[in-house]
Amino acid sequence: MIRYATAAEVEAALGRAMTCAEATWFQYSATMPDYWLWWHTAFVFLVFYTLTPLPLALLEHLAPAVALKYKLQPRVRLSPAALLHCYRDSARLVLLVMSPCLIVFYPIVKVMGIIRTGLPLPSIWEIAPQLVVYHFVEDYLSYWIHRLLHTKWAYNNIHHVHHEFRAPAGFAASHSHWAEVLILAIPTFVGPAVVPCHVTTHLLWFSVRVMEAAETHCGYDFPFSPTKLIPFYGGAEYHDYHHYVGGHGQSNFSSIFTYCDFIYRTNKV
Ligand SMILES: [Zn+2]
Ligand SMILES: [Zn+2]
Repeated sequence: MIRYATAAEVEAALGRAMTCAEATWFQYSATMPDYWLWWHTAFVFLVFYTLTPLPLALLEHLAPAVALKYKLQPRVRLSPAALLHCYRDSARLVLLVMSPCLIVFYPIVKVMGIIRTGLPLPSIWEIAPQLVVYHFVEDYLSYWIHRLLHTKWAYNNIHHVHHEFRAPAGFAASHSHWAEVLILAIPTFVGPAVVPCHVTTHLLWFSVRVMEAAETHCGYDFPFSPTKLIPFYGGAEYHDYHHYVGGHGQSNFSSIFTYCDFIYRTNKV
């Protein structure tokens, strides 16, 4: 909640006119409690999880011949019913697990000062390095958590749900056991805990992560994908191999980049 009642008060406090983005944010958030702005994380997650995989799912269904030449496992075609089942299960986890956890853990976020909600909005020079740090923190921690999830007990009791799809699609990115949703949320939240940010940066970070996860699980390798330009980026082919090998596989654990697999000698593609 922004502690100024009017735009004029905000501009007096800032010592300048608000930017267009700041005026929009003021209009939207001025009277909202901070925990509700923080809860937008679940909303943003659900919106991007719904929309990002949709174009490819439609392309595969409406024009399979066009999509086929880029498909990593061309013999496997998931039915609309299977995708819908996957989407429904994942969306339910966001609503029933992630959403209440965000509210329950909000007091910790508040006490630690992890998120700010007021004005000014962060500049690109603040956001960019924060996102870089969050990516590396996420990548390193999730690499080790993912390796632990491939130990016998953890795989049989938790991680096997995510590996239900040997040929994944974008909607399978969040198809997991409820415990995995919680465990793998830790690396995503640790970055902002270490380097606090504005809540809009936090929402951007989650949007980017959901899009990356959807791309990694999309089941297609497009040579013109802009992520091909990112050094050490794993991408769809890299993670598809991890799903193809299945639970007995001990390779390609990284969620974003490939350097951890390279350093710890678990890279296969
Ligand atoms: Zn796995
Ligand atoms: Zn996966």
